[in-house]
Amino acid sequence: MTTERYAIGIDLGGTNLKIGTVGETGLTAFRQTSLRERTVDEVMNLVEREARSFAQQTTGTCVGVGFGVPGIVDVKQGVLVRAPNLPGWQDVAVQQLLAEKLQQRVEVDNDANFAALGEASFGAGRDIPNFVMLTLGTGIGGGIILNGKVWHGDRGFAGEVGHTVIEIDGATCTCGGRGCWDEYGASRAFRYLVPKLSPDGQKVFRQWAGVESVTPEDIAKLADRGDAIALKLWQMYGRVLGIGIHNLINVLGVTTFVIGGGIAAAFNHFVEAARSEVASRSYPANTQGLKILKATLGPQAGVIGAGYKLL
Ligand SMILES: [Zn+2]
Repeated sequence: MTTERYAIGIDLGGTNLKIGTVGETGLTAFRQTSLRERTVDEVMNLVEREARSFAQQTTGTCVGVGFGVPGIVDVKQGVLVRAPNLPGWQDVAVQQLLAEKLQQRVEVDNDANFAALGEASFGAGRDIPNFVMLTLGTGIGGGIILNGKVWHGDRGFAGEVGHTVIEIDGATCTCGGRGCWDEYGASRAFRYLVPKLSPDGQKVFRQWAGVESVTPEDIAKLADRGDAIALKLWQMYGRVLGIGIHNLINVLGVTTFVIGGGIAAAFNHFVEAARSEVASRSYPANTQGLKILKATLGPQAGVIGAGYKLL
């Protein structure tokens, strides 16, 4: 009888906790629970309980735990430096805390970096040595894969692409800066895009019931039904995405981009506009090689990447 090696992957978000087991062929079990706990102690105890329960249910040898956290991570020290979606979490030694609780090897990284590694291992980025994954949701999560590995930069903070600036005197961002791509290229994008519609377009948009609560998912559904205003908004959105991609191409020379996150549900409605925007700005040689791919692992990418890191 062979004993299979597996790793536990954990993806801690601001509102839920995802956990799973990952083996040589990919994800073998997965569970998502909503996160009511808030303090470091409460959340870390929940993570410990979940990890233990998964280990008990799995046959084989557990080689360790990958722990993805939402914020800026000092990967070398295993410290979550700052997490805007987890108030009170600052300079938390998450790697050491979890390793002591579980008596296992623990690797810690930013959630977007683990999502990128997930797509690199079993998803859209498989066999592609260099790409940038953009997780489009409340913000823009970035993960840079170079030569098949996450590029962390000098301190481990690389890939915070959402906080590159695209509007000189733009809106205030959660990071404290202004005009970040995050404000214009993620779920808040439509606050900025709707006023740019024609007066008639703005009127129609306001008629879509409780405009303030219209989400990107709602606009995606309207576009699926062929709504002209929704389709126009996604084209405008595609331009903003294309500008950010253009900037990354010029810095990194990477020409493959994997798009994930909730906003990727509207991928087909914005991808051509993004591609055209890049083409209108970048060197032709870069544009010719441009690939904008839809992520294939969905909300499980972070768990898969976290587990894969240990295998
Ligand atoms: Zn910012």
